This record gives sequence, C-alpha cells and structure tokens, in this order.
Amino acid sequence: MVLQPVVQGSRFLVDFDAITLSANRRKARKIAIQLPEGLRIFASEIAHNVSLATGAEVAVDSEPCFGACDVPTHLFGHVDLVVQFGHTEMPSIGAIPKMHFANLYLDLDPLPVVEMALPYLSGRVGVVTTAQHVHFLDRIVSFLRVKGFEALTSRGDIRLGNYAQLLGCDYTSALWIEKEVDTFLYIGEGDFHPIGLAMLSDRKLVAANPSEMTVRTLDSLRDRIMKQRLVSIERAMSARSFGVLLNSKLGQRRKMLADRLVAEIKQANRSATLVHTNVVSPELISNYSFDAFVSTACPRIAIDDYHRYTKPLLTPIEAEIAVGLKPFSSFRFDQILAEQ
Ligand code: SF4
Repeated sequence: MVLQPVVQGSRFLVDFDAITLSANRRKARKIAIQLPEGLRIFASEIAHNVSLATGAEVAVDSEPCFGACDVPTHLFGHVDLVVQFGHTEMPSIGAIPKMHFANLYLDLDPLPVVEMALPYLSGRVGVVTTAQHVHFLDRIVSFLRVKGFEALTSRGDIRLGNYAQLLGCDYTSALWIEKEVDTFLYIGEGDFHPIGLAMLSDRKLVAANPSEMTVRTLDSLRDRIMKQRLVSIERAMSARSFGVLLNSKLGQRRKMLADRLVAEIKQANRSATLVHTNVVSPELISNYSFDAFVSTACPRIAIDDYHRYTKPLLTPIEAEIAVGLKPFSSFRFDQILAEQ
C-alpha cells in the first residue's frame, strides 16, 4: 500500500493506487466522490486528483456522509463507481459492486502521545483507535510491550474494517477483550469514538489525542450524557404515541428491531407507528405529532444531537425502559451489531 496526501500538503493520506485499480476493474468512465465535511473545501482538488488517477470524469456528491453505513445507492444509476473518502469498508453489508472505500490515514506519529499516556496505564492494556490511525497499530502495540505492558487488540465484529477499530456505533473490538484487560487506551481525536466505550465499559479508559498531544479520561462527559439520557427517558414515560424511525441507509437499517419495537410499544398500551426515513433531523421530529420517537438508525443521533430535538428521541433500549418493559438498570449504550 503506497499512501499519498489526498491533496498537496494535507496530513491525510490515501491509497490512490487502490482507487485506480477499482476504477480500472470496473472500466469506470464516470465516478462520484463522497467527502467528509472537513475535506469539502478541497473537493475540486480531490476530484482533480481522482480524475488524474483514473482518467474518469469525476463528480462530487453533496449529500451528508457520516460513515461507511451510508451507501449512496441513489448514485448507482448515474455513475460507474462511487469513491467514499474517510471510511473503511463495512464487511457486514457485503460486496457493493459500485463502491470503493478510500480510508484516510493521518500522517502523524502517535508514539509521543502514547508515551505521555504511560503513567496512566495499569495492568493489561486493550488498545483501540480509529480508522485514521490503524496503520500505526502494530507500532503502538510493540511500543507498549517494550515499555512492559501486556497490550491486547481484538478484531471485533464484521462491521469493523480493521483490528482495534472503533465506530461510534460498534465497540466490539474493545468489548470482546474487556474481561482480559484492566485499562483501555484509545488513540485518536475527539470524544465521538471513545465516549461510547466510556459508557459501555467500567474499565478505566485513557484517551490519548495525537493531534492535540493530550491525555485524559472522559468521566465527566460520560456522567453528563448519562443524565441527559435519563431526562429523555423520563420525558418519554408519559408519551402516548411513538414514531419508530427506520432508516433506509444500508448500514443503519435495523428492520427486525424496528418491527419488534412497534409490537412491544403497542403491547405496553401506547400507539406506535413505523416511520421510514433516510435522514433523521429536528424538522422530521417536530413536523409529526408523535409524542416521542425511537431511532433504530445511527445511535449517535439521539445522543450527540440531544439539544437539537424538542421531543424525546430515544434509542431502542431507552424506549423499552420508558414504556415499562425493562427496568432502568438495563440501560446500555446502543450499538448496531453485525447480527442485528
Ligand atoms: S451508524 Fe453512525 S456511528 Fe455507526 S458508522 Fe454510521 S454514522 Fe458512524
């Protein structure tokens, strides 16, 4: 794998040869690219680079794209290939003939911040990270072992593209080794990925951020989010009608779960209606008369966008608690797992 900057001077690297190979294999003459928000200002340069690498005509898809779960099936009738930048393939979805996932690798040595994190680690260490750092995983594990730590990683389930990788909705790469570790070391930027692990596991979590050179825990953020979730559940307890959101995105669609929730909520003497959607937004929530909503789509919509919603928006387990089917003690951070 030969990695090159996605645009000149960028710290994000991409495997352009793999894109060329994908395009050649499909004899692609027309390509659409999907870019994460932060790279959209470079859309014209990236489109130019993809065109140079493939010889194809390249267009940009302006729809939001938050993860590999979000496969732009609306484009498949118009182009020969879609290149989604910034995410690794989600093997559980299966082969998608017109898709190529072009992960973006951060060109930033994480070992200095891992060294800063050493005093906070104890016992056996489970290493987790994001797609942007997976190319350094072997070096991180070797470094920890040289420093005297037993370092463990796990493959996790088949929604994950790499060993030790976390998604905001899938923590199996951590949870499958939880019993064997004393501390989790997360290497990556932001709260989005590690906060789910902080809520799912009672093991100590140390978050090391290579871009900001900081080491911290997420205890106070976890407690704040827990309070918000309890407020949402309590508000939904008096709801008489629920809209159960079923997303059409391939990697977020949990049809069996949505059907089960509709049936369960009805059994609890409330009304429940399935709502098909492609995008969950504050407008969708406020335009309908349901008292509360349950999202079977990306679990992070209810949690991360809490302040944007005027009505209770619950995850599936929270809805079951709100209508009295499960006790508060059964609360758990919602994940989308391969078998759902
Ligand atoms: S479902 Fe949400 S958290 Fe999971 S990959 Fe998609 S956007 Fe990310």
